[in-house]
Amino acid sequence: MNSYTWTKPLLQWFSQNQRPMPWRDDPSPYKVWVSEIMLQQTQVATVIPYFQRFVERFPDAQTLAAADPQDVLRIWEGLGYYSRARHLQAAARQIAGPLQGRFPESAVEWKSLPGIGDYTAAAITSIAFGKPEPAVDGNVLRVYSRLRGIRDNITLPAVRDTIREQLRPAIRTVDASAFNQAMMELGALVCRPRQPLCGNCPLKRHCKAHRDDLTASIPNKPRKAAVPHFTEVAVIITNPQGGVLLYRRPDSGLLGGLWAFPQARRKGNEPYRETLMRAIADLLTSAAITGIRKRGIVNHAFSHFSQTIHVYTCQAEPLAIESKGVQAEPCWCRPEKLDALPLSKTDRTIAKTSW
Ligand code: SF4
Repeated sequence: MNSYTWTKPLLQWFSQNQRPMPWRDDPSPYKVWVSEIMLQQTQVATVIPYFQRFVERFPDAQTLAAADPQDVLRIWEGLGYYSRARHLQAAARQIAGPLQGRFPESAVEWKSLPGIGDYTAAAITSIAFGKPEPAVDGNVLRVYSRLRGIRDNITLPAVRDTIREQLRPAIRTVDASAFNQAMMELGALVCRPRQPLCGNCPLKRHCKAHRDDLTASIPNKPRKAAVPHFTEVAVIITNPQGGVLLYRRPDSGLLGGLWAFPQARRKGNEPYRETLMRAIADLLTSAAITGIRKRGIVNHAFSHFSQTIHVYTCQAEPLAIESKGVQAEPCWCRPEKLDALPLSKTDRTIAKTSW
């Protein structure tokens, strides 16, 4: 009996229990690649409708490469982590251009494209090309560290690398695509972070954490520090011609490339109107502001901070718009055009405020 006997019940379980996913019906390199980028930090159920809309609109790398970046962001809107969409299109341009439409087949080549790290390169090359590359994400780290009783801190890159190398000989003995997907699926459905369903698990006879009652302490994953919370003010400014003021965020950084309403972070106990005037002053020169009204509050949590946004409306009589600092490309936009522009989830909520 070799040390990889656990792979057989795992693959049997996967063949009987895998969830239907649209990219599983047709694991072409393009569809696998798009799905893996969308699945980074995002649940399968959230990704499915986005994936379907995306591949319908951009059915291949050439179409994606030639698309208006604003259209790509608009289709991605609401999925978050927008740098993924920008990197996807940048990589499509390399595939459609220098690579002459050829998809790389090795993990090393994939990693030379924007937005592709170790995990994604391994997932794409194993699922689309059958290469024996272990794809090590949070699910796989949890399953494997429990299976082997590994108590090291799995957030450390060195521990992740060790686990990847331990999985390499195992994946060489089986269907690589099914193996990687089975490990991830088992982590998502059975070997859950809390209260794993060990009684239903195909690995229970091989699993050290189950045998030694260690599932509560493995994986060893130190708690994250609490994320900071910020109070912000956003303002919907209209002008006498019926335009509404927006600016486009810089391409790099948080929510890069998306359009936004003027917004500023409150400093200490600063009166809200002062915060609001700072938001306006960043974009308008010598505006006469009238009719300031509070309209509501929007809460939002990112992975690294959360925010409460106080939403105001006002009218401005400015004639000059100025681009200062990071707020690129301010413009007066017709309200009916807002639907076509990519906005963040919070700005889309703000846009629905009555004004
Ligand atoms: S037996 Fe339990 S802890 Fe072990 S892999 Fe299965 S679900 Fe996870």
